[in-house]
Amino acid sequence: MEIPQASPVPNLPVAGSAQALAVRRILCVGQNYAAHAREMGGDPDRAPPFFFDKPADAIVPSGGAIPYPPRTSDLHYEVELVVAIGGGGANIAAADARDHVLGLAVGIDLTRRDLQAEAKKAGRPWDMAKGFDMSAPCAPLTLLTPDFALNRGAITLTVNGAVKQQGDLADMIWSVPEIIAELSTYIALAPGDLIFTGTPAGVGPLVRGDTVVARVEGLPQLEIRIV
Ligand code: MN
Repeated sequence: MEIPQASPVPNLPVAGSAQALAVRRILCVGQNYAAHAREMGGDPDRAPPFFFDKPADAIVPSGGAIPYPPRTSDLHYEVELVVAIGGGGANIAAADARDHVLGLAVGIDLTRRDLQAEAKKAGRPWDMAKGFDMSAPCAPLTLLTPDFALNRGAITLTVNGAVKQQGDLADMIWSVPEIIAELSTYIALAPGDLIFTGTPAGVGPLVRGDTVVARVEGLPQLEIRIV
């Protein structure tokens, strides 16, 4: 058997460009919208946001067909604003955070909800509930322009045309700059890191044959199919 050499770097296409971002890590925020924190049994007033991650090669481009994953009978969608880091460092001040943002995209944090519930109950890690193969579909990246607001805009998800999630980025408990500041106190952020910033309320199950469309105002939409 050959010793594997450097694997191909997962990447995210840049909208309107031939370039692509080399994805370094996928970091995710839990329970960052009050109504979703409540539907998950959390307390949005007291619980500070927390972080988990997915492997970089969990990225699936828009238009992708995702086989229903193994070891679950409760696969859930979670539409999220994805922030791509172009700068980086540790202990970034919230006031400087925007300067570290390369661009934005629409992503879905696919979740094996039954495995997550078991892990929560047993006080075990979420890795197998969150970081499975093809668990991070993501639309092309839009490079950040000075006029793009990070703190408002409709965020929605439909399944087979029916609206399931409908929120606004303004409803985030922790804003994008605050997430970057907080996360960078745990780890040094670096170019190519993607941050999934949490989902609004209305998460629910997917079945084979479902077509899922996720949108954030002003960004290219993400469409996937569960097969
Ligand atoms: Mn999520």
